[in-house]
Amino acid sequence: AKAQGRNTLCFFDPAMQAAATARSALEGDIRQGIQRNEFLLHYQPVVNAAGQTMGAEALVRWQHPQRGMVPPGQFIPLAEQTGLILPLGQRVLHLACEQLARWNRESATKGWTVAVNVSAQEFRHTEFVPQVLQALYTTGADPARLKLELTESLLLTDVEESIVKMQVLRNLGVGFSLDDFGTGYSSLAYLKRLPLDQLKIDQSFVRDVLTDPNDAAIACTIVALAHSLGLDVVAEGVETEGQHDFLLRNGCQQFQGYLFGRPGPAEALQPG
Ligand code: C2E
Ligand code: CA
Ligand code: CA
Ligand code: CA
Repeated sequence: AKAQGRNTLCFFDPAMQAAATARSALEGDIRQGIQRNEFLLHYQPVVNAAGQTMGAEALVRWQHPQRGMVPPGQFIPLAEQTGLILPLGQRVLHLACEQLARWNRESATKGWTVAVNVSAQEFRHTEFVPQVLQALYTTGADPARLKLELTESLLLTDVEESIVKMQVLRNLGVGFSLDDFGTGYSSLAYLKRLPLDQLKIDQSFVRDVLTDPNDAAIACTIVALAHSLGLDVVAEGVETEGQHDFLLRNGCQQFQGYLFGRPGPAEALQPG
């Protein structure tokens, strides 16, 4: 232990100290990365039952000069804890809406939708709705082609406020999707009240859908639940024909996963 001023004992732990230093370095890097436009979006196709691309999910990537291409799992949590998720989210929304406007100007990709992931801190912020409106207006993107992906835990923290925010954007045509469905609170009473358009079956259920009867039952239940609530349903993380066939036979109409395409630059997405 090392004395730190009067009456204060600070237990010095080199490993903790190193972790704290790495975190603040990363925080500074994220801040700088936002200013230097190092964040970009990759897009993963969402296909219908006929295998046609209906649109894409935007997934953020960080093209860092030294760290290389950094996946979101390595910076989103810290961005959330430090409030940097707001400027980062604004950048993501802007880039996604810009791409949406581009796709809707070309006949081959007209009508495609873009899904954008929204994290809890971002959604809860008072500037969230204005931020979405600004992205739409400055890019001229069609609000009816924008989908926002939210999670259960985010929505259920303050259901009333979530509903109000969703309604404001919904009145403009913006759609809402419940991401990672089945992994959260799954409160069916709330689910019924939320103004949603779509459920996304989490990839953890899709992975073993052919071998684990519990996962198969959960996936089929989500499809049935979505349909009875009048919602679309998308299966995530579809990697094999077997998974695809099973889900298709059980009523799922939209798919996303490596079987149909890995996330990549917008230019890599093929119409049709
Ligand atoms: P998510 O929204 O559930 O996105 C799906 C993740 O699964 C993506 O990982 C995607 O690359 C991956 N994936 C897609 N198809 C397959 C497949 O067939 N098999 C497997 N094993 N994985 C597949 P990624 O891009 O690393 O993103 C991870 C998470 O980071 C996302 O999970 C999302 O929660 C978050 N995220 C990504 N972009 C953003 C963003 O712009 N804003 C915020 N707030 N969060 C983001
Ligand atoms: Ca998502
Ligand atoms: Ca997901
Ligand atoms: Ca499982």
